[in-house]
Amino acid sequence: MIITATHINYYHICHRKLWLFSRGIQMEHTSEVVEEAKLIHESSYPQRASKYTELDLGVAKIDFYDEKNKVVHEIKKSRKMETAHQWQVKYYLLLLRRAGVPEATAILEYPTLKKTMEVFLSDDDVHYLEEVEHEIEQITRQEKVPEKINKSFCKKCSYYDLCWVE
Ligand code: SF4
Repeated sequence: MIITATHINYYHICHRKLWLFSRGIQMEHTSEVVEEAKLIHESSYPQRASKYTELDLGVAKIDFYDEKNKVVHEIKKSRKMETAHQWQVKYYLLLLRRAGVPEATAILEYPTLKKTMEVFLSDDDVHYLEEVEHEIEQITRQEKVPEKINKSFCKKCSYYDLCWVE
């Protein structure tokens, strides 16, 4: 199975979301939240596309990579899913390490909050992510969809209608 940074992100949010996504059930286009996030992404730093490189790692595409300083820049809308954001970005760093760039670091950027956060990859993080990769394979192989989690953020999830609307 090919594991992407999106799998890593969803693993840290909801295993049901991870399972649905891994089965090719995608509803992102119906989500206003996703549209809003895309807009922030496109409008926050209009000059950034010329400043940074788009890096295709095969299983992940990094939109803004500072090649000179080896820094991944990742824009997010809010800090509510910060743990998932951090592990997604750490996974980029792991992929870069596997591609022969072990010294890369990252910056999570929240333009609407005017906040940034530096992210690093430790050896412990690498071990943890390897375990997560293994668990993701197990979860996505299950025949039955994992249970709903009923969290406040379900309302903003792109699978909300699928999970909660009769
Ligand atoms: S709506 Fe809630 S339970 Fe359903 S996939 Fe999303 S986060 Fe998981």
